[in-house]
Amino acid sequence: MKYLFFISISFFNFYCCIAQQEYSIHDLKSGKFKEDSSYIYSLPFENNKKVFLIQAYDSKMSHKGEYALDFKVKKKTRICAARDGVVTGARADSDEGGLKPENMSDGNYISIRHEDGSVAHYWHLNKNGVLVNVGDTITKGQVIGFSGNTGYSAFPHLHFEVIGNDGKGNYKQLATRFNTNKGIVYLRPAHFYRAKH
Ligand SMILES: [Zn+2]
Repeated sequence: MKYLFFISISFFNFYCCIAQQEYSIHDLKSGKFKEDSSYIYSLPFENNKKVFLIQAYDSKMSHKGEYALDFKVKKKTRICAARDGVVTGARADSDEGGLKPENMSDGNYISIRHEDGSVAHYWHLNKNGVLVNVGDTITKGQVIGFSGNTGYSAFPHLHFEVIGNDGKGNYKQLATRFNTNKGIVYLRPAHFYRAKH
């Protein structure tokens, strides 16, 4: 009996310790990961919407050293909340975008804080493409805005990232897994995925 108890405790510890931060960027990019206990996000689009992921974690183009995702979507694509939360920031008045340094401050966005303190950022939204207000409570899957090409952006796309505690006391960008038509996965660049809410 004692032995069984020991086994179950060990298994529990083992299971809990495999958080997303245990993976190297190489593992994530090559799709090498085991089941873990991190939160499962929805893709930030309508259910069944097919999207192409251009850049994932540490992609060379503009995500070097970053844990962030770029989805190639047409302007005015409906953006949905990837997780329940409360809106902590939003901007919708910009109509400017490009790759000049001054474009860095031109992006429209929505920020949503989750119950574990992490915050998701949805960037480059269209002018007037924000359907929520700071303080609103948001449900996963809810349409929150429309994609665009504002801010530091070369083409219409959605930049999505989650910042939170990595379990070691650091507040940083986190790799997150998603429910997709290909199962529950860490997304890989240059792949198509379908949203599954
Ligand atoms: Zn990006």
